[in-house]
Amino acid sequence: MSKDSYAVHWFRRDLRVAGNPALSRMLKEYDGRVVGIFCFDKKFLSRADFSHARFQFFLNTLASLRDELLALGSDLMFCDQGPDEAFERLFQHLRKNGKALPQSLSWNRDYEPYALERDERLQKYFHEEGVHTATERDHVLIEPHEIVKSTKPIGPYQIFTPYSKKWMEQFRTEEVTGRLDQQKKGFSYLRKVKKGNVEKLNNWNWKKVLDKGESAGWEIFEDYRQKNQKLVTIEIPEAGTTAILAQLEHFRQRMDDFAEARDIPSLDGTSRFSIYFKNGSLTSAQAIAYYELHKKPKLTKGEAKFLGELIWREFGYYILTKHPRVEGEAFDDRFKKIDWGNREDWFEAWKAGKTGYPIVDAGMRQLNETGWMHNRVRMIVASFLTKDLHINWQWGEKYFMDKLIDGDLALNNMGWQWAASTGCDAQPYFRIFNPSLQSKKFDPDAKYIKEFVPELKNVAAKAIHNLTELTRPRAYPAPIVSHDKQRLLALELYKVRAKRQ
Ligand SMILES: Cc1cc2nc3c(=O)[nH]c(=O)nc-3n(C[C@H](O)[C@H](O)[C@H](O)COP(=O)(O)OP(=O)(O)OC[C@H]3O[C@@H](n4cnc5c(N)ncnc54)[C@H](O)[C@@H]3O)c2cc1C
Repeated sequence: MSKDSYAVHWFRRDLRVAGNPALSRMLKEYDGRVVGIFCFDKKFLSRADFSHARFQFFLNTLASLRDELLALGSDLMFCDQGPDEAFERLFQHLRKNGKALPQSLSWNRDYEPYALERDERLQKYFHEEGVHTATERDHVLIEPHEIVKSTKPIGPYQIFTPYSKKWMEQFRTEEVTGRLDQQKKGFSYLRKVKKGNVEKLNNWNWKKVLDKGESAGWEIFEDYRQKNQKLVTIEIPEAGTTAILAQLEHFRQRMDDFAEARDIPSLDGTSRFSIYFKNGSLTSAQAIAYYELHKKPKLTKGEAKFLGELIWREFGYYILTKHPRVEGEAFDDRFKKIDWGNREDWFEAWKAGKTGYPIVDAGMRQLNETGWMHNRVRMIVASFLTKDLHINWQWGEKYFMDKLIDGDLALNNMGWQWAASTGCDAQPYFRIFNPSLQSKKFDPDAKYIKEFVPELKNVAAKAIHNLTELTRPRAYPAPIVSHDKQRLLALELYKVRAKRQ
């Protein structure tokens, strides 16, 4: 390989250097002569599920990625066009200026329907241009096509338990544990980054690749960051390596209690990794490797539960890949056309956290104020929207995507279809959460409720779980519906559809 040949790594949802499989492969193959590229894709930015808060967190992560690449002697270029146009322009520019095209282009694979189509198209284009491509797995530990059902009926898994058994079989193979060992090595690099102590590679930057003095698009990035910042109304959590290492360590202390604490929204009992998983500044493989779960013959209760959650995450991508239609419709044919009431005023009350049901309102306010909601409460508010308010789960799915910093098509869709009983391996439609019982069980002292619903601060916990005309403060809304009545109506709505099949 000539010492002038180089590679470009195309960053998408793998915003990190350490343990980035496709980037590491290129750095090795090209002896450090690798530069990064990121394309602001207008199609993506104008998607119905776009969120300013999530984008801001993404931008902050990108800034930290650029710093890491520069520290390494590499570089990151920002383009203001979608990848089709950006790569075409880049190649034209290089040719016009008598410069060499990259010999290889690498990226880590993505499983959303839009991304799969884009990557297939671009791969074809790169090959036509004579550029090699190299792709690796990153976003999941075990890719959907690797989980093959061997029992009848043949076809993809639809139930989580047998899927997770198959997943565990793969997890224990040498191939997977070998990859996890590699990820473990990535952490020594992370620690070096934290100390500002990384060895420089070949100083292969965009100035070298393009004409001297060429901008690598930092002003494009800054323009996006400044414009978007103005539209963000919440505090954005810290992004980047230092924050991630701190969070990994923080959760280590909580792992033992995770199995029980994960269901109590007032506790700091969950990992909060979802925001990093979303943009790939951390992966589940890294989390598993950090705690060396793959090396332990027997996991503790907390570790097993945590690994179980990561398998649920992979199940979400598996379902979306095997059944891309779930992006726009119910997985369960019986419930594609439920006669939803879709009352706008109830939807507004739900969004604002003013339904008169304290646990639901606390959850919605947590979402609006922080961009994150506890998993138990996500289930409660989703059940309430669909089975108490009879509003289409897709309205809720969209609102979550507007607000969640961890908003993720595969997982959000799976969560909503689970709660609405329209998904695969979902909550049966006749099991309807009672919000009062849920709050009594999971927030007995109403600590979580009081944190987000200050109107109830001076009301005793016992009274909060069953507010009456006498105990409800005037500032807090009366219930907009009666759970008991709405529950019966919901059963009818679902039963009618279930019977028609
Ligand atoms: C209606 C609804 C919508 C949801 N939307 C999203 C979403 O847009 N993005 C998202 O990342 N998660 C979503 N979830 C799943 C879950 O609520 C979050 O992953 C979790 O609350 C994130 O917090 P954590 O990182 O502290 O999780 P932890 O409890 O620490 O779990 C560790 C990791 O396991 C995975 N995980 C945990 N619970 C689930 C679950 N129920 N399903 C799939 N994976 C899980 C996540 O990647 C999480 O980061 C949704 C769940 C529901 C019920």
